[in-house]
Amino acid sequence: MRRHSCRSCGAPRLTKRQVEVLAWLSGGVTHIEIARKLFITVHTVAHHITTMEERFGVENRAALVAAAFVAGILDAQWWPPSPTGNLCTRIPTTKCDEKA
Ligand SMILES: [Zn+2]
Repeated sequence: MRRHSCRSCGAPRLTKRQVEVLAWLSGGVTHIEIARKLFITVHTVAHHITTMEERFGVENRAALVAAAFVAGILDAQWWPPSPTGNLCTRIPTTKCDEKA
């Protein structure tokens, strides 16, 4: 779906709502608590998580959270993690192999 793609790189994007769920998830908040905080059902929380896993191409929630940090969607500077405002799921997959 075109509107879920980044205009700059073409990678899938997340919605602001999905990133809200992701931020709570990364801080260790349970599905039930996330549902309460966002006034949605636990089923909807699970659905958001599944959709985000598909957009990143990962298999589970641990990899989803890790990918969100690598992609710069979640701020790794402070606890609990908060959204940076970036919604693009592009994750760099190579790095310089020079060793110090
Ligand atoms: Zn992008």
